[in-house]
Amino acid sequence: MFDKILIANRGEIALRVIRACREMGIHSVAVHSTADSDAMHVRMADEAICIGPPATAESYLSVPAIISACEITGAQAIHPGYGFLSENASFVSIVEDHGLTFIGPTAEHIRIMGDKITAKDTMLQLGVPCVPGSEGGVDTVEEALRIGEQFGYPVIIKATAGGGGKGMKVARSAQEMRSSFQTARAEGKSNFGNPEVYIEKYLTTPRHIEIQVFGDGKGNAVHLGERDCSLQRRHQKVFEEAPGPSITPELRARIGQTCAEAVARIDYIGAGTIEFLYENGEFYFIEMNTRLQVEHPVTEAIFGVDLVREQIRVAEGLPMSFGQDDLEINGHAIEVRLNAEKLPNFTPSPGRITQYHAPGGLGVRMDSALYDGYSIPPYYDSLIGKLIVHGRDRSEALARLHRSLGELIVDGIDTTVPLFDALLAEPDILSGNYTIHWLEKWLEANMGDG
Ligand code: ADP
Repeated sequence: MFDKILIANRGEIALRVIRACREMGIHSVAVHSTADSDAMHVRMADEAICIGPPATAESYLSVPAIISACEITGAQAIHPGYGFLSENASFVSIVEDHGLTFIGPTAEHIRIMGDKITAKDTMLQLGVPCVPGSEGGVDTVEEALRIGEQFGYPVIIKATAGGGGKGMKVARSAQEMRSSFQTARAEGKSNFGNPEVYIEKYLTTPRHIEIQVFGDGKGNAVHLGERDCSLQRRHQKVFEEAPGPSITPELRARIGQTCAEAVARIDYIGAGTIEFLYENGEFYFIEMNTRLQVEHPVTEAIFGVDLVREQIRVAEGLPMSFGQDDLEINGHAIEVRLNAEKLPNFTPSPGRITQYHAPGGLGVRMDSALYDGYSIPPYYDSLIGKLIVHGRDRSEALARLHRSLGELIVDGIDTTVPLFDALLAEPDILSGNYTIHWLEKWLEANMGDG
């Protein structure tokens, strides 16, 4: 059993992990950069240690600094949160070489899923349906043009090492392929250190449906249904809900079982998310994230489980506290991501919070590291909080979201709250009728964002 866990992250996700540790009687260690000395995770953890200057490469991404912090504080395990080092296979190996436990999957699973071509190959072998496209990497523009012909335009060129919505280019014609192919390779190399790209059919009306899976590393795995994360801006999610408005119990059981079986077969350990595009009744795998997702609370809300607690349990070698038959959906949950950004262009808006008031009441969860007087540093992600609401059904959840957005006060900076106020007046949002392209079109029409 762990006595002490170090959280290699900041912001709301660091708080999320600290809270789980406290409920489990585990001591928590926060790490922070000099820009984060006054951050909430530093205040809330049992112990805190400064690991470097503001630049992430020298602090939250610095492997030596984080390993040293474990050695100094005597932490036995590291929870990586999401982002930063959470999907860095060599970090996991180094953690293990130092006799520490990484709370997450093995280095090998992270490596397989981190390379999108290998991930797709592996999923195909495990019986998971994928988006039609090139077999493996595409090295020359001639080959790319052949694939464009074969599958028909539009297609999407993707960096095999890409992530975070970056490293993707849509080609709508042979001419666009000629111009985009080399740019995609060059961007892959400069952003992710790997020029390799592959090509997929570009789906025009899909929804983004992802399945939450959880394994014990010993061949047992379950699924916790889906989340619909179709509302995206520049391939980044802004609004997520569970269950998905378009998914029937039969579809859920079918794709959920396929995913649970796939991860059981590879002895996957911990939380994972298998992402699909869903169009005309078919699921197409796009990628697997080998970590806790930002939007995990909607799944926690409808299943009544604590996914972080479960991650810690299986990392300790304990069995999962639930089996597939224990998992039953209760109601509907929605999460909105609140960013320190100024509309209509979503320009970062860091600064001092002069007043903060979190909404509350039945079915409302606010995961945020804000407090009165806190200064948001300009160096990190603009996510300042996640508002999660849970109701008996979708319309109750929507009403609760509307009510709690009204209670929220964040003064001193600009936030994306007005975006959600506006979305809640849209008939398509109220009826759940949207695809991955809905929000970009709406933003263009309503905010001139393009
Ligand atoms: P990342 O790792 O950067 O998140 P993903 O492969 O998960 O990249 O894709 C992110 C988003 O890009 C998807 O949710 C979807 O909106 C869009 N996308 C990816 N592949 C396709 C495709 N074949 N057709 C249409 N849209 C796609």
